[in-house]
Amino acid sequence: MNTSDSPPTAIYLDNNATTRVSPGAFEAMVPYLTNLHGNPSSAYRIGREVRAAIDHARRQLADLLGCSSRELVFTSCGTESDNAAIHSAIEASGKRHIVTSNVEHSAVKNHAEALERRGFAVTYAPVATDGTLDPAAVAAAIRPDTALVSLMWANNETGVLFPIIEVGALCQERGVLFHTDAVQAVGKIPIALKDLPIDYLSLSGHKLHAPKGVGALYIRRRAPFVPYIIGGHQEKGKRGGTENTASIIALGRAAEEAAAAMDDENTRVRALRDKLENGLLAIEGAAVNGHRTQRLPNTTNISFEGCSAEALLLMLDRAGVCAAAGSACTTGSVEPSHVLTNMGLARERALGAIRLSLARENTGEEIDRVLEILPTIVAELRANPPDVSTLRELATS
Ligand code: PLP
Repeated sequence: MNTSDSPPTAIYLDNNATTRVSPGAFEAMVPYLTNLHGNPSSAYRIGREVRAAIDHARRQLADLLGCSSRELVFTSCGTESDNAAIHSAIEASGKRHIVTSNVEHSAVKNHAEALERRGFAVTYAPVATDGTLDPAAVAAAIRPDTALVSLMWANNETGVLFPIIEVGALCQERGVLFHTDAVQAVGKIPIALKDLPIDYLSLSGHKLHAPKGVGALYIRRRAPFVPYIIGGHQEKGKRGGTENTASIIALGRAAEEAAAAMDDENTRVRALRDKLENGLLAIEGAAVNGHRTQRLPNTTNISFEGCSAEALLLMLDRAGVCAAAGSACTTGSVEPSHVLTNMGLARERALGAIRLSLARENTGEEIDRVLEILPTIVAELRANPPDVSTLRELATS
């Protein structure tokens, strides 16, 4: 079993799925799982100390985002933050239409679809073939009864960045609330919320080296808010439920570390991603999915003609490399990702797409190793495409 001190031996290139808890974040949370176990709402010393530590974590996160700590509410995850923002805008405005894109994460997509089933109207602004979004498509979709525009800052599959500031400005002009799902953007690109035309922003701890099961929602000062989780008075009445204290404190530390690592992310990690991508593009029939520059520094999404992503991932796993496909795979039956198909990619190309997402732990040696392994895997799969039973064997061996 791996402990926190023994790094995993796999080459981990699936950091958009989740990241490793940083040693600093881990260390910060331990006292709050042991001696400082008090309830932050309790008036005695260990309660007060935990309350002070949560307030400190909130300031650390506010510093990363360039906002006031009073504008942050801790939640259980990115999904809850997204749901809370959408719910709030609808309840507060009383309006029955929302605008989003056709490549959102299921945290927004499935909520929008659930609203449609309840009689709300939703417009899904389309993206271009490189995954980018034209703000004009959003402007055209806004109606007098629009409660909210909700757009992801960075796409989890392709890394493509949306023009969040431009769209926020046009929402402000039209008097429409604006939410961004920034789960993939926070900690990877600089964000300075003060003065930005954003009403709500969602983030998730486990995408930036904090534990799973903690997130936050930014609610701009004076933006309307109707709580999604109703219960106790925690989070100034904005989110009921005893705080996940240890994880909140780890998130604060992780936010501070992310700010310090931002330059590394945008120089060394970006260079590693580019080296990996350019090396893989030398394979005949390889193609990148998504805009090459309007993109997160850590992500590449790439298809290999004649190979299924499912087989590629299984072979990579056997070689000790963790990667992802956008498609929902259950061995033998695969549906292509809605992100790639809504970008207009042919089914075959979407089914052959894998996502490699880096983080600050990745090294040049790891990238060199993947550049040795992957061309061989692609060549093997092209020479001997596996049938369903071979795939099942690979998946269970
Ligand atoms: N939004 C985006 C863009 C994501 O990538 C994810 C997770 O992959 C989420 C929301 C959901 O975050 P969480 O896993 O914290 O619920």
